[in-house]
Amino acid sequence: RIVYVNGAYLPEAEARISVFDRGFLFADAVYEVTTVLGGKLIDFRAHMARLDRSLSELKLPTPASHDELLAIHRELAARNGVDEGLIYMQVTRGAADRDFLFPPQDTPPSLVLFTQTMALRDKPAARTGIRVASMPDLRWGRRDIKTVQLLYPSMAKTEAVRRGADDAWLVEDGVVTEGTSNNAHIVTADGTLITRDLSHSILHGITRAAVLRLAADSGLKIEERSFTLDEAKAAKEAFITSASAFVLPVVSIDGAAVGDGAPGPVVRKLREIYIEEAVRTAI
Ligand code: PLP
Repeated sequence: RIVYVNGAYLPEAEARISVFDRGFLFADAVYEVTTVLGGKLIDFRAHMARLDRSLSELKLPTPASHDELLAIHRELAARNGVDEGLIYMQVTRGAADRDFLFPPQDTPPSLVLFTQTMALRDKPAARTGIRVASMPDLRWGRRDIKTVQLLYPSMAKTEAVRRGADDAWLVEDGVVTEGTSNNAHIVTADGTLITRDLSHSILHGITRAAVLRLAADSGLKIEERSFTLDEAKAAKEAFITSASAFVLPVVSIDGAAVGDGAPGPVVRKLREIYIEEAVRTAI
């Protein structure tokens, strides 16, 4: 696999990042994951807008312009022959002597990208749905910034799988925040889509925003508000969204079936129209 590191396209075995890189020592880094379908990028401009926001919230320097980043994404996808998969991009505060104080603003940031080829459109979980287990949300207070501090979500997902589920839904103050790497949504018996409102508590998902737009266009009633785990267990349908999952049905929560325990019509429809729109607007 060819990866991109600070201006160079290299075989992965030749790529180098300093042991003093603040991404490595402090998780002082942000990232984006953009989907490739048919060799084209989904929602690229929205991912770059969120990257800018993450960078500015952490006073991280901008590594390159959006057009330069677009060119790097395209070049890397082409070099690795990615027709369907993901492009991971990380920006760190660069290498500096280990100190909690941020280094001088002119310290060059590190920019790393790599690709992952994988089937996204046609995956078994879209037909079977996924099972989630609830876990306390023990992450920090600025989950709206897409940082690489992913230890707790990684622990929670591992524990969920140990319990026989596929992923965790994180719960705080009695309400669901989101999944370990996706946003959480439910559909009530009267057909209302309920999704957590935007705040510092959750990541502002690019896929969430696209799906809400499409859902509104197709006449679905939407409520952006917190919902409890009990509300989710009593819902007719439940689902997650993310750049790599698109829209995936959730068929059980802590072992209790959601609806009739199979993917429902609203979620199936949202997945279909999301993929159609993503492919139509890819660049
Ligand atoms: N929430 C969290 C915590 C995430 O890590 C992600 C994606 O990685 C999402 C939500 C979904 O965001 P997006 O739709 O932009 O991929």
